This record gives sequence, structure tokens and C-alpha cells, in this order.
Amino acid sequence: MPDIRPTVGSGALVLNATYEPLCVVSVRRAAILVLSAKAICVADGDGVLHSARDALPVPSVVRLTRFVRVPYRTHVGLSRRAIFARDGWRCAYCRGPAETIDHVFPRSRGGRHAWENVVAACARCNHTKGDKTPAELGWRLHSLPAAPKGTAWRVLGHRAPDPRWADWLDLRESEAA
Ligand SMILES: [Zn+2]
Repeated sequence: MPDIRPTVGSGALVLNATYEPLCVVSVRRAAILVLSAKAICVADGDGVLHSARDALPVPSVVRLTRFVRVPYRTHVGLSRRAIFARDGWRCAYCRGPAETIDHVFPRSRGGRHAWENVVAACARCNHTKGDKTPAELGWRLHSLPAAPKGTAWRVLGHRAPDPRWADWLDLRESEAA
């Protein structure tokens, strides 16, 4: 295994041999894939990596040289950060900055902890809402909550995409989700 010094940078996008986005790995892991000829670099990041024998540009996007069949994780994990990301860090009721998670149909009344029943909310709306439903308060949801979909979500989750990855990920799709 090459001796690659730890570097800056958040990660590298890995594409299948067919250019289909697969996942994000550490820059170090991507460099090892390139150095072992398992992948080729298709977009450089910033800086240069040094190993014992080689120097190579920091990979930002790499493509596997051989096609791999990957079983897809079809749903995005439900986490606080993922909910905030889906809702754009805005309150589902007043569109102010969100800092809490609200269960639309309250958990105390049997509401599920699921993408379709959770929204980002500001502390004030969340407190006011308490264990009532939006209908009981005459409130309207900005949009109907749903599980995020699309390639960008599958590959990135709540991670912020590197602008250099835009050619391979349909990022508009993720914003709309
Ligand atoms: Zn609010």
C-alpha cells in the first residue's frame, strides 16, 4: 500500500466504469484506487499527493476501471442532518430558520418517525404546536414531507457536494427533493 500522507479535502466522488456515481470516499482512498490502477482520475482536486515513489494530483472524481455491480441502498437514512438538508434548514410552517425537528402528526398521538411525518421547524413553531396537528391549529405545511430521492441524495446523503462533481450528479434534483 502506498504511503500517502493525510491531506486536506473532504473526499472524492467514485464513478462506476459506466460513469454512474457510486459513492464518496476519502481522498486517500481514491488515491489508492488510482495508484493501484483500479480507477482513473477524471477530475483533479486541489494540491498534490506524495507517496514514496509517486506524486499525483489530489483526485476529486475517479472512475473505476472495471464495472462493479452495487446493490443500491434505496432509501436515505432518517437523521436530523438529513431532515434539515431536505428542508433547506427552514421551518416547514413559517419558513424561518429551523433548529428543531417536528413530528407533523405528534408522536404522543401515534405519529410515526418517518420521512413523511418529520419536518424541520423553528423552536417557536415547534413549541406552539406542541401535541397538536397542523390542521387543529389552522396551519399549513409549506410542502408535503417525503423521503428524498435522486442520485445526488443516494450518493451524498446530507453531505455538501463539491462543485467539481456537478457534471456527474444531478444536483438540481437534490435541491428539488
Ligand atoms: Zn417556524
